[in-house]
Amino acid sequence: MFKTKYAKKVFEAAEARAPWENEFLQAVKEVLLSIEPVLAANPKYEQHAILERMINPDRQIAFRVTWVDDAGKIQVNRAYRFEFNGAIGPYKGGLRFHPSVNSSVIKFLGFEQVFKNALTGLWLGGGKGGSDFDPKGKSDAEVMRFCQAFMSELYRHIGENTDVPAGDIGVGKREIGYLYGQYRKLTNEFTGVLTGKSLDFGGSLGRTEATGYGLCYYTAEVMNQLMNDGFEDKTVVISGSGNVAIFAAEKATELGGKVVAMSDSSGYIYDPDGIHLGLIKEIKLEKRGRIAEYVKLRKNAKFIADKKVWEVACDIALPCATQNEIGADDARKLIKNGVKIVAEGANMPSTPKAIDLFRESKVVFCPSKAANAGGVAVSGLEMAQNSMRVAWSVEEVDQRLQTIMKNIVNQSLSAADKYGLGNDLFNGANISGFERVADAMIEQGVI
Ligand code: NDP
Repeated sequence: MFKTKYAKKVFEAAEARAPWENEFLQAVKEVLLSIEPVLAANPKYEQHAILERMINPDRQIAFRVTWVDDAGKIQVNRAYRFEFNGAIGPYKGGLRFHPSVNSSVIKFLGFEQVFKNALTGLWLGGGKGGSDFDPKGKSDAEVMRFCQAFMSELYRHIGENTDVPAGDIGVGKREIGYLYGQYRKLTNEFTGVLTGKSLDFGGSLGRTEATGYGLCYYTAEVMNQLMNDGFEDKTVVISGSGNVAIFAAEKATELGGKVVAMSDSSGYIYDPDGIHLGLIKEIKLEKRGRIAEYVKLRKNAKFIADKKVWEVACDIALPCATQNEIGADDARKLIKNGVKIVAEGANMPSTPKAIDLFRESKVVFCPSKAANAGGVAVSGLEMAQNSMRVAWSVEEVDQRLQTIMKNIVNQSLSAADKYGLGNDLFNGANISGFERVADAMIEQGVI
């Protein structure tokens, strides 16, 4: 529980104001608890009301999206964009299209994005958006009409120097293409207003792979520095089979690990011979199919319906699906089966209780804000290339990504060390991100 009066007061006020914002309050509590040593040592943050300002977005936009489905029926969805904090750059963060989206989910994601973007060392503010629209089972034409209707409102709030959205769950290259087309049509401008674009119109090489690759670069660096070890010959389990999960699996395999399980929302597959990535890519990326189809073509593989991957024994666990997907029971199973390191590819995939259990059991825990920052980092590199009207080689982008991920590990460790917290990557990441944004806010005055 809280040790400083200031953090306690700010959290209780947030809770009293909107007790239904569960995910957002969870994310706020985690950050406030982490930064208590900083608040205790630096009264300036309370004097400048930094926490009250940080937990309130600069701006929050909610809108209706009206579109027509293939049957000619009018459909209505809710949509949001939280422009959370612009102290260190244009608002930056993805768009999520999933039926579970509501204002608390987007608000928590926007809040987390502020600290994550600060950790990259780039000039990126934090924001997030999305809609409760479900692209699953929709035709390309329906997805296009939805994206056009969504952008018909969003376009007036974004811009290459104002707010630069990207993809997230349910928003990949196809959706970004339709969103970009509509933005260009409405504004008559060709600018880097979205990232994750196709290479044909301003995308960056390496952006698709960046979150998953970055997660493995971060994990490898942590294993090297704190465990004198690496991916070689380790058993890896990954949840999800979307953008982040697939490229995490690819890099983990390249670094010598053996990925034996992956999942989607219908269950998980276990392949003792190691997951065949070509097959997963074909099923999930090309055919937009279900993961169960994998076992039809791999004789030793099994599909376990409606269960989570965390019951599979592993050395390295990479949650890459969604928030709160590792609860206390899942954490206990992982610990019992000997997991050595958990690195979060998804945003906030472990519940607070699960995190406590990992930390108490000396499992090395790599928090999402730091470990999955590779995606937004390469989005930042895409913005830089768009501004300069140049395209960097994949080697150049990958080299920069590796450097950024190593820097995040080092920054987190040195922030933890500064406050006497040892090798605490979890609190170190929150402290490092907080200090950068808070100090920029103080320098920019009372706004
Ligand atoms: P995708 O839409 O490409 O894939 C999401 C995957 O997670 C799918 O396999 C999906 O299964 C599964 N999933 C989603 N929701 C649930 C759920 N409620 N229960 C079980 N499984 C679920 O998304 P991304 O790979 O882009 O994103 C995954 C995570 O990574 C998210 O937390 C996102 O915020 C985070 N992230 C993404 C970044 C990016 O660059 N894309 C950057 C940083 C973080 P199904 O197909 O059955 O729905």
